[in-house]
Amino acid sequence: MNGEGKNHVHIDSFFQSIAQGTVEMVDLTTPLSPATPVVPVPAPFAPTAPLSVHPVSNFDEAGPGWRWNDLTIGEHAGTHVDAPQHWISGKDGKSVEQIEPTRLAGPIATIDLTDGVAGNQSFLLGTEHLEAWEAEHGRFRPGTWVLARTGWSERASDPERFVDPAGWPGISLAAAKWLAAHPHVSGYGVEAIGIDNMGSGPSEPEPGTEPDPGAFGPGHYYLLGADKYGLTSLRNLERLPATGAYLVVAPLPLVGGTGAPARAFAFVPRDGEGR
Ligand code: MN
Repeated sequence: MNGEGKNHVHIDSFFQSIAQGTVEMVDLTTPLSPATPVVPVPAPFAPTAPLSVHPVSNFDEAGPGWRWNDLTIGEHAGTHVDAPQHWISGKDGKSVEQIEPTRLAGPIATIDLTDGVAGNQSFLLGTEHLEAWEAEHGRFRPGTWVLARTGWSERASDPERFVDPAGWPGISLAAAKWLAAHPHVSGYGVEAIGIDNMGSGPSEPEPGTEPDPGAFGPGHYYLLGADKYGLTSLRNLERLPATGAYLVVAPLPLVGGTGAPARAFAFVPRDGEGR
């Protein structure tokens, strides 16, 4: 891959571009602390644990020359990846450590929903947004991560507003099915605490039909059931172009994990395509 042809990969020039700033590395991760909220679930369902930190030593008798801590944390706390095994539709699918690295890196398609969310905080990503993106920029390339830019991360430092009982942006049943069926989509990422709005819940009953099995959480049900992954609590999406950026997301490889806290970076070209 070190050839001189224009189609060859030049990994050295890639790193040089980062050093020179013509490729910007944007951290999409929300810092994780005990104050980081976890997704609320209605009774009688059980909640997951937020991060708690238990000191082991602090330059004291338990460790005179070192400080370290033990952690208690839910798999789905803070910026994290949802693996297929998280949902009943994907229970026979992959656990988080089984997701191939090549599925955790790929082109970013940024869908801008900020106008819709400004007028309705429970605004849903719809198929019309996905179809409009592809009409303007071309078909999603293989391995694409679709990231929904909503402006919601502006609330991330205030848990009461971030996990607003009145709701947060979500995804429609139709859009979840559309993404699940798209052969080139690896995952779907959001600024909110989860890929679905379970605060107010999606409501798209189709008259005269049985309730959809994915109605409670269409993103979880259809994406995880189709071996596509979720990514939550993102920030800095306003710094991404609609197309041209590249995602690398690295969840902890918890064996058997249904998800895991993750670090997510975007590589954003600043000198041409994608500006
Ligand atoms: Mn989750």
